[in-house]
Amino acid sequence: MESVQKKDIKSMTVPELEEEFSAMGEKPFRARQAYQWMHQKLARGFAEMTDLSAALREKCRETFRYTCLETVRMQESAADGTRKYLFRLEDGSLVESVLMKYRHGNSVCVSSQVGCRMGCRFCASTLDGLERNLTPSEMLDQVYAIQRDTGERVSNVVIMGTGEPLDNYDNVVRFIRMLTDANGLHVSQRNVTLSTCGLAPQIRQLAKEELQITLALSLHAATDEKRRELMPVAKQYSVRELMEVCDEYFAATGRRITFEYSLIGGVNDTDRDAAELSALARPLGCHVNLIPVNPVRERGYVQSGAERVRAFQERLKERGVSATVRREMGRDIDGACGQLRRRVLSEEKNGKETPCGDAGACVENGRV
Ligand code: SAH
Repeated sequence: MESVQKKDIKSMTVPELEEEFSAMGEKPFRARQAYQWMHQKLARGFAEMTDLSAALREKCRETFRYTCLETVRMQESAADGTRKYLFRLEDGSLVESVLMKYRHGNSVCVSSQVGCRMGCRFCASTLDGLERNLTPSEMLDQVYAIQRDTGERVSNVVIMGTGEPLDNYDNVVRFIRMLTDANGLHVSQRNVTLSTCGLAPQIRQLAKEELQITLALSLHAATDEKRRELMPVAKQYSVRELMEVCDEYFAATGRRITFEYSLIGGVNDTDRDAAELSALARPLGCHVNLIPVNPVRERGYVQSGAERVRAFQERLKERGVSATVRREMGRDIDGACGQLRRRVLSEEKNGKETPCGDAGACVENGRV
């Protein structure tokens, strides 16, 4: 396991890399060159860094570990072109990322952990608990691998894949800083959204980071009683406390918060639920993102009917709350968080063959 002890070069900031290089007797501008190879030219390894000497590349190989994700599968939705990628990490763990193509640009949904320990009842990612946190380089390379695959610039990043980003706070904040660094991919901070189930102390901390990202709070219910049924984390932090920290976040950053609200048939989709949600969203000027719940076999929740979704949205609008219904992208390709990973893991366990190799060879259009 020699490589595990090596330093993770792709998680280092420019100043950190300069320090490492100067300790190796190299000039600081070499560090900047290496950084750009990794984060702008999206090199797959040291071998591609052709303007560094062969001796320096060899030294780097001995000193550092180079994160480069292996694409295990890629599924493209026949319906809307959404692509779901399954990547294998160096230790064999699997993570999912999704590419969504919008008129305003390409958006990548990244995972922040292998598994999750938050236990939300409607979510497939949490069924097997948390395995480990992802490193900054493992989050960055989800974006890079997709940009390498499509050859198109990724302009938006949402941290809404598997995992609770604020449960992996330091790595996620570093990931955001590196993703938006002018020496790297330079994604605009305003085009980065972090979605959280509501860890109040970490939201307070995030408010002080001087980041211009959008915070999305997964609310899903407007009362503590209902929220606790759906999300165990609600037993720790009340809706009231969350509204307080949202207020603080807005005051500190000037960025309006989005509420995520998954509509579950007969659970949280009545007119009364809409009225209670409006009462929370309106004073904060929050936008509400309505998500028809993505049915997860293991959970048994069903979607609200189309008519109910429209009515719910209407009730919010009547009360002065802006609300959109999230387009259901890629439902035909195991769209819900964690479903593709679970399927492949179970196939691997049962000895069924998993296609492997570069992404292009793995499109499963036949299945969709
Ligand atoms: N842990 C973070 C981010 C991951 S999930 C969070 O909780 O926000 C991204 C969003 O998808 C969250 O709002 C989550 O509650 C929601 N979600 C998870 N599973 C879902 C499902 N089966 N149907 C609809 N939304 C789901």
